[in-house]
Amino acid sequence: MMAEPLLAELQSYIGIRTGPVIAWDQVNAPMIRHWRDAIDTENEVEQDPSEAPVTMLPVWLMAGIRGRPAPGSDFRDHRAIMKVLEREGFVGILGTNCEQEYERRLLPGERISSVYEVEAISERKQTKFGPGYFITFLQSFHDEKNALVGTMRLRILRYVPQIGSRRPQPPPPPQPAISQDTSFFWEGLKEAKLLIQRCTGCGLLRHPPGPACVQCHSFEWDTLRPSGQGEIYSFVIIHQPLFEAFDPPHPVGLIALDEGVRLVAPLASSDRERLAIGKRVHAVFQTYDEHHRMPVFHLSAEG
Ligand code: ZN
Repeated sequence: MMAEPLLAELQSYIGIRTGPVIAWDQVNAPMIRHWRDAIDTENEVEQDPSEAPVTMLPVWLMAGIRGRPAPGSDFRDHRAIMKVLEREGFVGILGTNCEQEYERRLLPGERISSVYEVEAISERKQTKFGPGYFITFLQSFHDEKNALVGTMRLRILRYVPQIGSRRPQPPPPPQPAISQDTSFFWEGLKEAKLLIQRCTGCGLLRHPPGPACVQCHSFEWDTLRPSGQGEIYSFVIIHQPLFEAFDPPHPVGLIALDEGVRLVAPLASSDRERLAIGKRVHAVFQTYDEHHRMPVFHLSAEG
């Protein structure tokens, strides 16, 4: 059998260590308390507040919202192998498996560090999502004396998303969960009307719809029909899951309507390559069948 060049390239990353990445903070009581709150650890066996729960191990090494390692860290990208996969179209990702092992409990005041390596990579697999590779990252955590305190193995599937051949009649879009508070919005769409909830107490617009006004707490409301004009506040392009009704990979925008409220809505797939934050858009109702209509936002003429 011919050796697969891509697999050989991927395998060249196995065993290369990056790090250490230093924890931003020492193990500390406030973070332990926040974590216990967030995870809701009422049933947890270990309740001694002076010890960090062992399952918090990766928390201490998190890089924060901006993804910056703490000073003194090795700044090399420990996921360089991902760039190789992305170059070859393996852009889909699924978390499949995470294992942690703990050597001992951590105490407040300790500052740990970690090193990463690619531990293993599978042969190319044909999965139900598309062809892909399973990659195992090993993160090893050490204390200040460089003694091992724990490990985490993350095994993920990187795959080439399969854009199926289009059916002549695309299926209708997936249906939303409709509640008493949101039904007017979806009923409006059936009649090709975009409706935004408006507090009749103070006039504040709110979306997604809700039972009460966050400003004046009034329960009374009516609706406003916006112009459908606005700008792209943010957007993503969704590769998985595939919904053929939306012409995948389909862009979804967070649209800042001119009336002053934001709305999540599909963007026109034909504009996919030209989308940018701040560009002007306008809503066009797309009809899937008599019960399924959606406002799709298209880029407006510039200038
Ligand atoms: Zn109000």
